[in-house]
Amino acid sequence: MKKFLNDPSDVVREALEGAVLLQPGTALLDERLIVVQRSRLVTEENRSSVPVAVLSGGGSGHEPAHAGYVAPGMLTAAVAGAVFASPSVDAVLDGIRAVCGDAGCLLVVKSYTGDRLNFTLAAELARAEGLEVAVVVVGDDAALEDDQDANAGRRGLAGTVLVHKVAGATAEAGGSLTEVAEVARRVASQVATIGVGLTGASVPGAEEAGFDLAEDEVEIGLGIHGEQGVRREKLRPADALVQDLVEALIADRGLTAGDEVALLVGNAGGTPVLELNVVTRAAVNALQQAGLVVRRVWAGSVMTSIDMQGISVSVLEVSADLLDLLDAPTRSLAWPGGTAAGVSEPRAEVHRAPVPAAPTEDGGDSGEADQAVREAIDRACRALLDAEAELTRMDQEVGDGDLGEALARGARAWLDDPVDGSASTLLRTVSARCRRAIGGTSGPLYAIGLLRAAEALHEGADWPTAFAAGVDGVSQLGGARPGDRTMLDALVPAAEASPEGLSAAVSAAERGVESTRELRARRGRSSYLGDRVHGHPDPGAAAVVVWLSALG
Ligand code: ADP
Ligand code: MG
Repeated sequence: MKKFLNDPSDVVREALEGAVLLQPGTALLDERLIVVQRSRLVTEENRSSVPVAVLSGGGSGHEPAHAGYVAPGMLTAAVAGAVFASPSVDAVLDGIRAVCGDAGCLLVVKSYTGDRLNFTLAAELARAEGLEVAVVVVGDDAALEDDQDANAGRRGLAGTVLVHKVAGATAEAGGSLTEVAEVARRVASQVATIGVGLTGASVPGAEEAGFDLAEDEVEIGLGIHGEQGVRREKLRPADALVQDLVEALIADRGLTAGDEVALLVGNAGGTPVLELNVVTRAAVNALQQAGLVVRRVWAGSVMTSIDMQGISVSVLEVSADLLDLLDAPTRSLAWPGGTAAGVSEPRAEVHRAPVPAAPTEDGGDSGEADQAVREAIDRACRALLDAEAELTRMDQEVGDGDLGEALARGARAWLDDPVDGSASTLLRTVSARCRRAIGGTSGPLYAIGLLRAAEALHEGADWPTAFAAGVDGVSQLGGARPGDRTMLDALVPAAEASPEGLSAAVSAAERGVESTRELRARRGRSSYLGDRVHGHPDPGAAAVVVWLSALG
C-alpha cells in the first residue's frame, strides 16, 4: 500500500502538527498527542472564569476528528491515541487537567470498550483531584441492536460530531456543565447513523486493508476502525442503497411524517466528493419521501476511517433550540456547516436559464434539400458510434479517454433528431449540435470547422474549398498546425487532396494519422506526456478518418 508517510510510527504526531498549523488558535500540549485551544489553557488567573470545557478524542485515523474540531464553538481539547486505538487514561487525564477550570468539563466519548474505559477512569481520577467532570457516551450506530448481551452495544460513529457541535455551542454561550451535558446527551440519544463501505481501511504500516470485498459487494453497518460490518450485500445503485439506509434510520429513531431532521453524510475517507453528492441527493430525497422535513444537510469528511471508500448517513431529529446550536458559529475548519455561506436549508433548486430569442440552428438558409449530404452525415455519425470503443482506447493511451464518448455524444445529437435542408443548412445544424453536445477540445473545434464550411458553401464555394475553409477554422481557433500531433495532421492533407476526390482525401488522412505516431504533441492533453506518446497514433486524427471514410 503506497502512502505519503515518513516513519509510520510517527504518523499521529506529525499529522497533529499539521492539524495545528491549519487550525488557528490551537496548540499541541508539549510532546503529548493532545491538541488544545491556546486561549483556553487553564491558569491560576483564569481558572474561575473559563467556560465549561468540552473534550473529546479517541484513536487516530478518523481525521479531521478530533483535532480538527478544536476551536471556539466546538471542542476545547482533543486527545488522540495511536491509529484506531483509544488514548490512555493518563493522556485523557492530562487533557482534562489542561483545560478544566472551575466550571468543569464534559468528556464526549464514542462507545467503544477501550474509549469508555480510558475516559471513564480518567474522569474518576480527575474528580478525585477536585475537578468537575461529566461524561457523555455516544452510540449512534443504528446497525447494531443495543443488546449488551449480544455485543458491546451501539458504537459511536459520525453522529458524534453533532454532539461536539451542540455541546461546544452551549459551552461557548456560557452554559453550565449540567446544561452542556444535558444537550449533549439529548443529541446522542436522538442521532442515528449507519455506515457502508466498498473497501476496507489501510492502517499506516500494515500491508493490506482490513478486509476484502469482491468487486460487486458492499459491507453494511460498519464501525469506523476498518472492522467488518454486520452484513454483506451485492452493490446496488446509490439511490436504492441509500433508500434502505434512510428507512433503517427512520425506524431506529421512530421518526414519523412531519418530524424535522438534520442530515449528515459522512465520507469514510476515500469516497470521491462526486459520489458523496450523489449519496446526499439520494438521502434528502428518501427523507422527504418519508414525509420528514429536512431542515439541515451537511456532507464531508467528518469522521473518517483513513482511506476507506465508504459513507455514513446520520439523521438527527431537531427542534428550534438544537437548530440554533447547530447553526451557531464555530471557527472549526473541519465542521462541514461552513461559516460564511449561511445555513443549508435543503432545496434542490432548479431555475430556468434565461434564454434570449435564439437564432435557429440552421441560420435560416432556405436552399434546396440535399438528400445525398444528409445521408452522408448519417453514415458519418453511425461510423463514429461504431468506433466509440476504439477511439476511447486510443485516447486512454495518450489522453484522458473521453474522445470516443465525446464524439458519440455529438453523433447521437444528430441521429436522434436529424433535419433536412441544403448542404449548408445541414452542416450548420451539425455544427450547432457539436457545440452543445460535445464540449472538451473536440466540441468547439468541430463546431467551428463545420460552421466555416457551411458559410463557404452558402457563398457558393465547392466542396474542396469549403473543406479547406473548415480546416482553417480549426487551425485558427485551436492554434495548432500540421506536425503538432492533432486532428489537423489528418485534416490538412485530406483537404489538400480533396480536389482529387474523396478517396484521395481519405488516403491522405490515413497517411496523416500514421505520421502522428512519430510526432511529439505540442497541443492538447497529449502534450503533457512528452515522449511517452511515441508510437501511438493521435486519436483525434484517427477520428477524422472514421467519419471521412464513411462519407462516400
Ligand atoms: P480533451 O479530452 O483534451 O478535451 P478530446 O478528447 O475531445 O480532448 O480530443 C482530443 C483530440 O483533440 C486530440 O487527439 C487531438 O487530435 C485534438 N486536439 C487537441 N488539441 C487540439 C488543437 N489545439 N487543435 C486541433 N486539434 C486538437
Ligand atoms: Mg480526451
